[in-house]
Amino acid sequence: MRFDIATILPDAFTSYLNESIIKRAIDNKLIEVYIHDIRSFSENKHHKVDDIPFGGGAGMVMTPQPLYDCLTHIKTLNPGPVVYMTPQGRKFTQSKAEKLSLKSGLILLCGRYEGIDNRIRETLIDSELSIGDYVLTGGELAAMVILDSVARLIPNVLGKEESHLEDSFSKKLDRKKEYPHYTRPAEFKGKKVPEVLLSGNHKAIADWRKNHLK
Ligand code: SAM
Repeated sequence: MRFDIATILPDAFTSYLNESIIKRAIDNKLIEVYIHDIRSFSENKHHKVDDIPFGGGAGMVMTPQPLYDCLTHIKTLNPGPVVYMTPQGRKFTQSKAEKLSLKSGLILLCGRYEGIDNRIRETLIDSELSIGDYVLTGGELAAMVILDSVARLIPNVLGKEESHLEDSFSKKLDRKKEYPHYTRPAEFKGKKVPEVLLSGNHKAIADWRKNHLK
């Protein structure tokens, strides 16, 4: 799956994309990730990407020209939907991540300032997603959240075991939250692991886990 991310802070992604599972997925060509600097598309001689809002008010608004040129360029490379990160969007959920993971591509647009000129929303954005009812300074963290949660659902990204099939909110767990986990030692600072998990009785363990979903 191909991810293209449009941002004015491309360096914000460097560290995360170079760590752990996401890095391995990129190295193993299970996903491709391209970061596009919206500022480099600006025709303004100072590469400005924001301006004052018509009608007045606090804050700046991302101007349409750099966004238009950046997104139309990306759309020639990636067939996937253009998704704008915004607290005003539909709430991002595990089932949404599952649906997105079936696509061949995804284009994520990160806003900054008060957000983007509404004409871009009307013309180039296919859907809008929020990662929660709070306001971030920009869409970069939201894009990373979506990239991470979608990428780990792509076959082989987590390894052959596909452990995500039994994660919280998965269909297999009836969209419930996962049961508690324990590992060695069997007793730690006086607290013991539930006896049934040491029993080797697979049916009893499965029942215990089912009864401990939240
Ligand atoms: N003025 C906007 C509002 O009140 O809805 C908030 C703008 S916010 C300061 C700047 C950018 O951060 C947004 O354009 C969006 O891209 C991103 N952002 C902030 N909160 C977000 C959230 N909960 N989910 C997704 N993106 C978010």
